[in-house]
Amino acid sequence: MRFIKTDILELLPDELEAEIERLGEKKFRAKQIFDWLHIKKCENFDEMTNLSAQLRTTLEDNFCIKPLKISKKLESTTDDTVKYLYGLSDGEFVESVLMKYKYGYSLCISTQVGCAMGCKFCASTIGGKVRNLTAGEMLQEYYTAQRQLDSGRIGNIVLMGIGEPLDNYDNVIRFIKLVTHKSGNNLSARDITLSTCGLVPKILQLANEGLPITLSVSLHAATNMKRNEIMPVNKVYPLDKLISACKDFSSRTKRRITFEYSLIDNVNSAKSDAFELYELLRGFNCHINLIPINYVKECGFVSSRKAAEQFRIYLQELGLNATVRRTLGADINAACGQLRREKAVAELCE
Ligand code: SF4
Repeated sequence: MRFIKTDILELLPDELEAEIERLGEKKFRAKQIFDWLHIKKCENFDEMTNLSAQLRTTLEDNFCIKPLKISKKLESTTDDTVKYLYGLSDGEFVESVLMKYKYGYSLCISTQVGCAMGCKFCASTIGGKVRNLTAGEMLQEYYTAQRQLDSGRIGNIVLMGIGEPLDNYDNVIRFIKLVTHKSGNNLSARDITLSTCGLVPKILQLANEGLPITLSVSLHAATNMKRNEIMPVNKVYPLDKLISACKDFSSRTKRRITFEYSLIDNVNSAKSDAFELYELLRGFNCHINLIPINYVKECGFVSSRKAAEQFRIYLQELGLNATVRRTLGADINAACGQLRREKAVAELCE
């Protein structure tokens, strides 16, 4: 039987300590190794120079580190956005997008290879879900992008790339625990945003984790009839259940929820849609983020910044506050899933 090595990056400090003791080593070695992995962000055991050569060989024999290969790196010419297409060890690909804001760097990471949710405007779901990413692979998306920077720290993470994070619940929670661990990378959980299309039972479960992250819910329509058309998840978890779960999350975590609303011409951008959104969210202390839909050839939906601005004014007239999200990296296909999709199409044509 083939021995499958554990990805050492995925082990929390107490788990790593137990493994190191099992190998007959002193406990404090685990702390040194965690430091090499999560503070110095090393890519192989040879870099761990304060460990003996024998211990490094033992680690190599028992564990693996799986750095990601940067298969493509696209840099925007209009802003500082960088898009990475990462190659995984099994030949699959995922994307991350690094964005520069006044307050620093933010990285949008993928949580799955593909997505099963079937949103009609999204390139990531074309071809369905291939598999979940491990916590180690998500960490590598972040650490690889961090290693690429000459200076500055990526201080914000957005789980909004390819995949539905709550459909990969356990790995995503482990990733958050690792990336925020005080003995390691020590990112504040408040600087992590998790985006979901609305998996109600998982939203309720997440509220119990005690993680002060921000929840961002992809709404995109304010009636079940419209939402059913563009987001199949709504047929399973309709709006009344979703909004009730969001209110529950908000009151239990004391965190304000963000609703994402992508404007699509002739679908959800009329004044009557703004009124329906007002009816749905009035009285709920939340934030609304308006986004002109990213054009995906296979989906065919379009919108514009002007339409988003107009929709914001409709909402403002009704007393709802909303902002229009800055469009970054428009020249490098920064919408999630497009680069991976292009790669898949190119391989089919070869
Ligand atoms: S928008 Fe998100 S949940 Fe919907 S298909 Fe795309 S990746 Fe999946």
